[in-house]
Amino acid sequence: MKHYAIAIDGPAGAGKSTLAKKLAERLGALYVDTGAIYRTIGLYVKRKNVEPKDEQAVVSLLPQIEIGMTFGEDGLQHMLLNGEDVTTEIRLPEMSLYASDVSAHASVRTYLLEMQRKLARENCVIMDGRDIGTVVLPDAELKIFLTAAVEERARRRERELIRRGTPEPFEKVLAEMQQRDYNDSHRAAAPLRQAEDAVLVDTTELDFAQSEDALLRIVEERLGVKPCR
Ligand code: C5P
Repeated sequence: MKHYAIAIDGPAGAGKSTLAKKLAERLGALYVDTGAIYRTIGLYVKRKNVEPKDEQAVVSLLPQIEIGMTFGEDGLQHMLLNGEDVTTEIRLPEMSLYASDVSAHASVRTYLLEMQRKLARENCVIMDGRDIGTVVLPDAELKIFLTAAVEERARRRERELIRRGTPEPFEKVLAEMQQRDYNDSHRAAAPLRQAEDAVLVDTTELDFAQSEDALLRIVEERLGVKPCR
């Protein structure tokens, strides 16, 4: 059997990464979090004190950036920025908008395209992001568009930040989520949208176990759960 790809796209906080990770574990596929790649670029731009909205300035930094991704035995994806493990740092709340700003530049997206496609050529992947089903892997065997109401997504993010020990007020989390939704779906380059052939899953009313069941059912119906090699 050839490598298969499952693309999971959707707005921030819909549960993509947690669910994709779980699904990958079940299927023995590689989970690839593409948001982490944009976050890593965002971190470098921040460290260099460059305005992330300035495409020329961001592009001029790209040749200095070597992005590495390693996958542990546990399936966890570690991000390396010029050899330094930045997996934890890119999760700091302020990195979300940096990632969103740098990801709006077409030249940044093109630069990262081949890296993402190569991972899918060499592995069975469950890849999550914003444009996986529409741009990165348009031939993915299964595409899922995962969403939830913005207030519910903000509540989930608020809880996650508390768990991580970096709490933020709900109003701030909600405003940032709305800003990111707007940025991601209104940019000219690969905006967030549901691919025509994607299955829509709305998790507003679903808890984690129910969302996982819903996804597993879709995978079984559409793909069958095949071992990967
Ligand atoms: O998924 P995550 O929230 O970590 O992604 C951070 C930001 O990176 C998103 O808000 C989005 O702007 C950008 N992104 C993207 N395309 C992807 C993955 C993430 O534009 N495939």
